[in-house]
Amino acid sequence: MKRNFNNDPREIKLKYPCPCATCGIQLHKGVNVYYYPGTKKIYCRSCGEDSFRAFLESKWDEEQYQMQYH
Ligand SMILES: [Zn+2]
Repeated sequence: MKRNFNNDPREIKLKYPCPCATCGIQLHKGVNVYYYPGTKKIYCRSCGEDSFRAFLESKWDEEQYQMQYH
């Protein structure tokens, strides 16, 4: 079974101004933000960083785990 990676959060550059989903700060076009496609939410760096890092770590663990069987 293939995992759907389309819902994975990612770091993007904003293409349009948008408020952070957590703190409501206005984010400007061109700044780096965290985007969660599953919820379609945008988080500023300070709000999104912890959960994004947690996601990367869990993904890394998963990849290491899968590599053992290749
Ligand atoms: Zn924020």
